[in-house]
Amino acid sequence: MKVYLGKKSLEARRVFCIGRNYADHIKELSDQVPEKPVIFMKPETSLVPEGVEVSFPTHGKDFHYETELVLLIGREGKPASVKKALDYVAGVSLGFDLTMRDVQRYLLPKGLPWELCKAFDQSAPVGKFLEKEKIKDLNKIEFFGKVNGKVVQHGNSSQMINSFETLVFEISQAWKLLPGDLIYTGTPSGIGPVTRGDQITAESSEIGVFSWKII
Ligand code: MG
Repeated sequence: MKVYLGKKSLEARRVFCIGRNYADHIKELSDQVPEKPVIFMKPETSLVPEGVEVSFPTHGKDFHYETELVLLIGREGKPASVKKALDYVAGVSLGFDLTMRDVQRYLLPKGLPWELCKAFDQSAPVGKFLEKEKIKDLNKIEFFGKVNGKVVQHGNSSQMINSFETLVFEISQAWKLLPGDLIYTGTPSGIGPVTRGDQITAESSEIGVFSWKII
């Protein structure tokens, strides 16, 4: 799938996701604060651009939204240090890490892989990216998640346990960064279920408003 960065577009590559990156969300799931960033991946086929409807999955019942800031990598390589990691980020957008919570509740205690609950088709709606340079302070991006126009999540990148630069650096230690890689950076508290007919919206006054319908 093509992703848009201002007026440019590039082909999406890997979709990295970070779990448990906001303390209030860890609390609501009764999880432990991780020592290192929790990294998982979704296939490129999980991505959903704006204007495409999301079909309610058929392999579970408890379909949850998680509103997240998403980074777009614009440069190939491995940053030499955490400080240099942001040089590899081209843009920021918002998206949803859609999750089958009932499937996750089955997999997690057994220590089974997360793909079935996180990496299924259409599990990663993503908006247009804004050039990083246009954002005033990457460490203070306020954003909202809405269901049918009602605010259900309110986050700020300042609340992240691991900052953007730490996340990019940690990922780069195992995977050389490639242009078109995306990084979903975790969700704040307020996650919850959606049903057919719902409209989910991710919004930030700095980045934009992106919306998808569940059918
Ligand atoms: Mg998430």
